[in-house]
Amino acid sequence: TDDPLRTDLREAARAGAGNVRGERHREAINMENRLYIGGAWETAKATFDVTDPSTGEVFASVADADADAAVRALDAAAAAQASWAATAPRERSDILRRAYELMHERADELARITTLEMGRPLAESKGEVVYAAEFLRWFSEEAVRVGGEYRVAPGGDYRILTTRQPIGPAYLVTPWNFPLSMVTRKVGPAIAAGCTMIIKPAEATPLSALALGRLLTDAGVPEGVLSVLPTNHAPEVTDALIADGRLRVLSFTGSTPVGRKLMEQAASKVIKTTMELGGNAPFLVFDDADLDAALDGAVLAKMRNTGESCVAANRFIVHEAVAEEFAAGLAERLSALRLGPGLDPGTQVGPLVDERARDRVAGLVSDALERGATLRTGGKTPEGPGWFYPPTVLSDVPADARVMREEIFAPVAPIAAFPDEESMIAAANDTEAGLVAYAYTRDLNRALRVGEALESGMVGINRGLVSNPAAPFGGVKESGIGREGGYEGIDEYTEVKYLAVDL
Ligand code: NAD
Repeated sequence: TDDPLRTDLREAARAGAGNVRGERHREAINMENRLYIGGAWETAKATFDVTDPSTGEVFASVADADADAAVRALDAAAAAQASWAATAPRERSDILRRAYELMHERADELARITTLEMGRPLAESKGEVVYAAEFLRWFSEEAVRVGGEYRVAPGGDYRILTTRQPIGPAYLVTPWNFPLSMVTRKVGPAIAAGCTMIIKPAEATPLSALALGRLLTDAGVPEGVLSVLPTNHAPEVTDALIADGRLRVLSFTGSTPVGRKLMEQAASKVIKTTMELGGNAPFLVFDDADLDAALDGAVLAKMRNTGESCVAANRFIVHEAVAEEFAAGLAERLSALRLGPGLDPGTQVGPLVDERARDRVAGLVSDALERGATLRTGGKTPEGPGWFYPPTVLSDVPADARVMREEIFAPVAPIAAFPDEESMIAAANDTEAGLVAYAYTRDLNRALRVGEALESGMVGINRGLVSNPAAPFGGVKESGIGREGGYEGIDEYTEVKYLAVDL
């Protein structure tokens, strides 16, 4: 399964910083040992390793940003902020449109890089390139529609004018699970609004973020506006940026514990935060559901991205009249999926991101079995290299099993049966998370009633996939604050300015 890109990156890593031999993928290789600071590629003092989850082997080493690099990136962002904010919206819109087109031109290489970094099947990586590019297209269309109002003060004696202004330098911290779209979902609105930015990708997926940095520069993002800081020292880089005082926006996507910590830190300088955090999505199947459609939706909501998705169906809450049929159907569908390296053409399910993730999910499954759950398929860690875990279905899972309480982030589907709508909704809402929920029913009244009662920012009704750049994505409760995408996404990067004008 050795891919020419992996071979070239591995050779480059062996050759060491600044001495690169690979020919076939010069673009990807040339940037890998460098930081991108405000328009210039800089060789860093240190590097860190990137591992291929399908083999457990290091295939690249990447520049490691420190606090000094972070402050220089912020110098560049702060210096460019005023002129960037003053750039014509159409110009910023055109840059986003070009970036969208370049993502399509470079789709193959971008997809291969992400599969090497985080393991999922290549076809899914190509899907993510398209999804990620759509955020650039959507916000290229929104960039020219940021407006304000003209109001008459109630006394009639003056006018209230409002406009939206970019807030200022933004720090964009992203997870490894969707390495491209989690970046473009922030970069798109930041460019559209006129904020300068510093991107800090996850440790596992720095190469794709660097490739995006290069792409955005090629699309015309001016000097100073954008930096990409891969780092193995996230707290050090983050502390330096927040303590500095010039940072004005912190947009974070990742786990709830890290988000909570960053919110506390941001409070010290009253920095505006957007938090896209962990989920624990309930997937409700009522006795009046189209069961085939529910099973199709369940496979999509569970298995997309190998289950490593914040919107993955985490708990299947099924009416007892259809629970057995649903469990048998899901086990049949999931056991037919082929597990393998993401670059193999026949692979439908890739490895998990790292050894810790694999061992953690094995622990969740044994905990459920010890508490009396029934194993319907999977459940056994395969021998051999790579961090593989098979698609697994558990039924009769008790409410106190860890697999029901924690975010699974793996291809494991726990099912529990309930007698009625009321108990299903109560079970669904019995979590601190509130990102997304799914409900399958053919009754329109029930669909709306349940949709309103579920405590989550998003609800899929007879749909296993809700993500769309045109829709407001985000959570309630401990799943976060703020929305990305939709008309709402740009608001995270602008603030309302009010002018009182005497007549
Ligand atoms: P994570 O919280 O471990 O890391 C996210 C980012 O935070 C990474 O860039 C990491 O380097 C950085 N980070 C970690 N500790 C830090 C610290 N102390 N200071 C500063 N930065 C720090 O999450 P992950 O494992 O990369 O991603 C998986 C999590 O992300 C899951 O919980 C998933 O649900 C969530 N997620 C949420 C959404 C959403 O839109 N709500 C989307 C994708 C993923």
